[in-house]
Amino acid sequence: MTKSNKSLIIDHEGPFKGKKLKCIFTEEQIQKRVKELALEISQDLKNAKQPPILIGVLNGSLFFMADLMRAMNIESEMDFIKISSYHHTSSTGTVRLVKDISAQITDRDVLIVEDIVDTGLSINFLRNRMQSNSPHSLSVVTFLYKKEISQLKKEPEYIGFVIPNYYVVGYGLDLDQKYRTLRGIYAIVDEKE
Ligand code: 5GP
Repeated sequence: MTKSNKSLIIDHEGPFKGKKLKCIFTEEQIQKRVKELALEISQDLKNAKQPPILIGVLNGSLFFMADLMRAMNIESEMDFIKISSYHHTSSTGTVRLVKDISAQITDRDVLIVEDIVDTGLSINFLRNRMQSNSPHSLSVVTFLYKKEISQLKKEPEYIGFVIPNYYVVGYGLDLDQKYRTLRGIYAIVDEKE
């Protein structure tokens, strides 16, 4: 498939074979929203005693984190965490820590940067884990939020876009490691949609 087409058919083997990728947010819409989020976050954290620490959740948040951090008009630091989650049902499951942060976050202002919140299991786990290190403040920004299916105890403080329960790819999000470098967000839909 080419990166410039607006909607394309998935051709590799798997449950989504033959389905269509439909663009739901263009690169321009994404960049505009990321700038808005960056300014809002900068405004909220501008009085922090030390630069806030942005913690990107690997791998999907990579491009969002890079764009967000560069669009902020205050200094910030970065670190990364990697987890893997296995869902038994939409509300229960297990989260495993694959790579921990190296920064000391006690008394610091911490912002977790997530690509997408689906059930909310990952964010609940990450909030609990960060909170146990007594940061000065802790907030979450997610680029996409499947609000209608999430079972979050506490909603993200900053949300790029609320989306329906689609499986989406692009802007860092993958399907079996494919499609991450698409510059828009694409939903996997039936061919007639
Ligand atoms: P949660 O724990 O909120 O159910 O799931 C969060 C993680 O699941 C995300 O960080 C992402 O890795 C993955 N995920 C959830 N929904 C999607 C989706 O629509 N597309 C892709 N590519 N990954 C998703």
